[in-house]
Amino acid sequence: MIAATFQGIERIAVTGKAEPALIEPTDAVVKVELCGLCGSDLHPYSGREKGLDVGTTMGHEFTGQVIAAGEEVRRFRPGDAVLSPFSTSCGGCAACRRGLSARCARGNLFGWIEGRRGLEGAQAQFVRVPLADSTLLARPPDLSPIEALLLGDVVSTGFYAIDRAGVGPGSRVAVIGLGAVGLSAVLAARERGAALILALDGVPGRLELAGEFGAIPLPVLDPRGKPLSERPIADEVARLTGGEGVEAVVDAAGSAEATRLAMEIIAAGGFLSTVGVHTEPAFAVTPTAAYDKNLTLTIGRCPVRSRLEELCALQREARLPIERLVTHRSPLAEAPEAYRMFAARRPGLIKMVFEP
Ligand SMILES: [Zn+2]
Ligand SMILES: [Zn+2]
Repeated sequence: MIAATFQGIERIAVTGKAEPALIEPTDAVVKVELCGLCGSDLHPYSGREKGLDVGTTMGHEFTGQVIAAGEEVRRFRPGDAVLSPFSTSCGGCAACRRGLSARCARGNLFGWIEGRRGLEGAQAQFVRVPLADSTLLARPPDLSPIEALLLGDVVSTGFYAIDRAGVGPGSRVAVIGLGAVGLSAVLAARERGAALILALDGVPGRLELAGEFGAIPLPVLDPRGKPLSERPIADEVARLTGGEGVEAVVDAAGSAEATRLAMEIIAAGGFLSTVGVHTEPAFAVTPTAAYDKNLTLTIGRCPVRSRLEELCALQREARLPIERLVTHRSPLAEAPEAYRMFAARRPGLIKMVFEP
């Protein structure tokens, strides 16, 4: 089979690999129908996150069909269409029982092998799924493969960020960073009944889409592409909130600049909700600033599997326009170019999906 593999900083190669086989009786092998390129794939790609073994198959977002199931797999048989979270989970450990499947004691992240330990990724024609019964979910026939793919990571993560920020009917919320997760957070805020959603980014097309999703777009770059200072943005947020600021900020950018901007626009007693891989060496908010705002900070990887049934049901019911996040499709053979485009923030590119 072919797979997009990590070869070092800014080096992805499409290489031939042996098809995965069942190793444990609880494994399944899935033929990948669609796999996604995620913002967090760029962390090892750009060298911000270290430790990934050379040769590892990249990617952790996929949907497809089971082609083989171990003898202890009860819920799936060959031919079943499935979706998957970006990590495996057992369903039975303390973390799983508490709804924190992303911190499962037996869990692994797809596409992360370090010191020869870990799990191959899904940017390949086939992927091995350990703990298949408690990791995979049957794909409801009325969800499209694109919807299923997005629910396994970015859409779940957007909802998690909004829910952890305490957003509910009447909330005023700002989302900083309008990649696929940030735009999902905009949709989640609307779905949870937020009264005011501010969407902050520098890319015009992303701001436009956030506007169509029900947010007020606020550019953080001037028309020449230079960053606006925090002051005019904070003034505009103050104007839109009667001088109070917003009760919740979702930081979907994960940068020090985003954190500083968040602290300028957040109301006293507000929530700062950070998702996605965070690679900064320290928080850009000082304990004093946090104290002075009675801030609640939430951070961490979304426990997708713990929330996936509920979110699939919501999507089947509400039909949120999540498919609009996918702006590009590419054959897996062109993965190296896709990574370059995505890392260079090619205008118009929000979400890239591979068809292996
Ligand atoms: Zn991802
Ligand atoms: Zn577990």
